Amino acid sequence: MALLIKNGIVVLGESCEVCDVLTDGKRIAKIAKNIREESAFDVIDASGLTVMAGFVDMHCHLREPGFEYKEDIASGTRAALTGGFTAVACMPNTDPVIDDKSVVRYVLSRAAECDNAKVYCIGAMTKGQEGKILSDMGAMKDEGIVAVSDDGRPVENGNMMRLITEYAETFSLLPISHCECPDIADGGLVNEGLNATITGLKGILRAAEEAMIARDVLLAESLNARIHIAHVSTKTGVAIIRDAKNRGVRVTCETCPHYFSATDDEILSFNTNAKINPPLRGEADVAAIIEGLCDGTIDAIVTDHAPHSLEEKNREFAYAPNGTSGFETAFSLCYTNLVRAGHMDMMRLSRLMSANPSKILRVGGGELRAGETADITIVDPEAPRVVDASRFVSKGKNSLFDGWKLFGAVKRVIVDGVEKEIKTDD
Ligand SMILES: [Zn+2]
Ligand SMILES: [Zn+2]
Repeated sequence: MALLIKNGIVVLGESCEVCDVLTDGKRIAKIAKNIREESAFDVIDASGLTVMAGFVDMHCHLREPGFEYKEDIASGTRAALTGGFTAVACMPNTDPVIDDKSVVRYVLSRAAECDNAKVYCIGAMTKGQEGKILSDMGAMKDEGIVAVSDDGRPVENGNMMRLITEYAETFSLLPISHCECPDIADGGLVNEGLNATITGLKGILRAAEEAMIARDVLLAESLNARIHIAHVSTKTGVAIIRDAKNRGVRVTCETCPHYFSATDDEILSFNTNAKINPPLRGEADVAAIIEGLCDGTIDAIVTDHAPHSLEEKNREFAYAPNGTSGFETAFSLCYTNLVRAGHMDMMRLSRLMSANPSKILRVGGGELRAGETADITIVDPEAPRVVDASRFVSKGKNSLFDGWKLFGAVKRVIVDGVEKEIKTDD
């Protein structure tokens, strides 16, 4: 079935133009002005709306198998679509851990049955994510994983990280590192600084994250291998990666909307939705993250969507789990705080949310171009919204941004040329 999207502001690689997009089956057939309507076409009038490549989230937690009370593949991929994501890559910290081809097969077949957003599977680096024995990366790659990570936990042992980096490179798999030295973090809960002192919550030095970023970048440099740093949150973390990129190290990295939208002031009310790992940082870090996004040091924006039950988040700060539900606020936060705030244009935002993550994962797509996969998200950037987490499609209603006034609404989502039903505010 051909789909004709008329008169939208289409975000292309180097420009935004008012034109039409025509799909043919799963592919984009043509992007041009005034494409003639034919009776065989389904027509979407996108006048006044912005047409973007579907967002690709290379870091989220879908919680299935094992934690279906927090989220499952069906609810998570529906929530992803609602947020404008046509594809997501899920982390392996499930129960059982995704460290074996049978679990990979289960996740991918469940995702195919659900037929919402596409799911790419990330396998564990080590068995059970315990950091002791390498996982069977080759067998998992044959089953379809796109990367390896022990996310949720750091790989503490430096020699183990060396072996992972080398082994992943042999299989052309991207290693994604969750950086935090547990010995430096020493059980801390929030960013170390004035707000930690005021609240009496134990702090985590920025160096806990930065020391491991430095270690992993140096290992990749020594071994001439790829490394991807997850959720960079500090000014010095950005500087270490910028410096490495200037030396030609094969490093890429990501950050999340919460690291450029909020600071650790959010913990002053003991709001457990502000308990995130790495922790929310200070104003200088937020500025450095935005600078890194603008100068190309930071390659991708990911959600680190971390759904939890309200019961878990209603515990005392020290006992609540880390993370914020991310799919359904990501675009609004990016548009409001990056584009509307004047830091970047829509083309750069589209690279950060779609093209770059697709390139890093080597999965194709992520751009609006004839011949590319027809994964398309239509947004109304200037639509005001008040975030109401109780209305999230995700089972995870734990949003740091509940009640925030933002701009940007996702209106329609097309995956492989087929429009999906999504929940909108109107
Ligand atoms: Zn992580
Ligand atoms: Zn994560």
